[in-house]
Amino acid sequence: MSRVLMIGAGGVATVAAFKIVQNQDVFTEFMIASRRKEKCDKLVKDIHAKGYKMDIQTAEVDADDVEQLKALFNSYKPELVINLALPYQDLTIMDACLACGCNYMDTANYEPKDEAHFEYSWQWAYKEKFEQAGLCAILGCGFDPGVSGIFTAYAAKHHFDEIEVLDIVDCNAGNHHKAFATNFNPEINIREITQKGLWYKDGEWIETDPLSIHKPLTYPNIGPRESYLMHHEELESLVKNYPTIKEARFWMTFGQQYLTYLDCIQNLGMSRIDEIEYEAPLADGSGKTAKVKIVPLQFLKAVLPNPQDLGENYDGETSIGCRIRGKKDGKERTYYIYNNCKHQEAYNETGMQGVSYTTGVPAMIGAMMFLKGIWKKPGVWNVEEFDPDPFMEQLNKQGLPWHEVFDGDLEID
Ligand code: NDP
Repeated sequence: MSRVLMIGAGGVATVAAFKIVQNQDVFTEFMIASRRKEKCDKLVKDIHAKGYKMDIQTAEVDADDVEQLKALFNSYKPELVINLALPYQDLTIMDACLACGCNYMDTANYEPKDEAHFEYSWQWAYKEKFEQAGLCAILGCGFDPGVSGIFTAYAAKHHFDEIEVLDIVDCNAGNHHKAFATNFNPEINIREITQKGLWYKDGEWIETDPLSIHKPLTYPNIGPRESYLMHHEELESLVKNYPTIKEARFWMTFGQQYLTYLDCIQNLGMSRIDEIEYEAPLADGSGKTAKVKIVPLQFLKAVLPNPQDLGENYDGETSIGCRIRGKKDGKERTYYIYNNCKHQEAYNETGMQGVSYTTGVPAMIGAMMFLKGIWKKPGVWNVEEFDPDPFMEQLNKQGLPWHEVFDGDLEID
């Protein structure tokens, strides 16, 4: 018997919930809790409407509030809490897990609301506390971070004695037919993309202007796409866990239209994450106004398309993988491992587009690894610190099959 509590009812959580329901041999008791209970209830209704049968409980919780979380955890008593809310809530949920004796998993590193800063230090600082409590915390178990780290661990285990160069390449060659939309939470997405680039070379981190380094890379079944060097959180843990790595970079594709809109958003000040004063009409209908504080990026999120609604008209596919250079038995080797995921197939199965799908499926598999006792040890861990093999096996079974290319041209010097 297993008892899992998932927090969040957005795009990624929807996919994870569908996948949990499809694997009831492992997941026997399941609760979905989020800021608004009606969203959890709608998700359960959608799951049942697709013909799946499972008794799923729902609850309302503000995951910014440790006391509310503790009350919920103490009443439901989950073995594992899957955090699929926002990165802002990572630490409050970890605190509540420690207080209530629950294990923890997420898909994105903690970010303070008032600072777009991406690093694991805040969560790694919990290592000793989780160790002492005999609890396990699994960090970053989506696709990237997540599968990108597991692909690297698999390459290190089976194909390399030393990994020297790691390039994580993330292409979304889909089209949602909207002028501008983000594929996951717009606030989190725009914060990530507008930050400075960062890559690793010979023990140093090199900072670059946002999206200033780019080159066309060729993706399987897709062709060449302009790919932009960005900072991405898993680079931090991977260079630490694989000290032979001399160079590590992360590349993501963007279309020209997306970048033009992003430029406008920034120039207009709509990507700001600090509070501004806004003269807003009073809700009493008097026609009077009052000064309120708003964060422009949060306001922008409210008017942009909801990533959860993009799936129906989304065509094309994603392709995410690792291009690796290094040595095996004294010889130079290149290796490319990737998954391609079609947006329409993801939508037909779960009602969500491919980006939510490629994140929600690994989140379910990570939870499965924990519940089966395969990925379970006291402390705070990044995914590459566990055995990749059983996870890789599940990727093939759960809708994200992977492919390997040996000794091909990696295109990146
Ligand atoms: P969504 O905005 O669609 O979903 C977030 C959910 O969390 C919503 O249901 C939201 O409620 C809920 N929520 C937000 N704040 C709170 C709170 N204080 N208390 C309780 N619930 C709250 O985001 P996504 O599904 O797109 O993304 C989910 C997570 O996945 C994010 O952390 C994101 O960074 C991560 N991610 C990771 C990827 C990877 O590959 N590793 C890729 C893509 C995303 P409401 O619906 O009411 O707003």
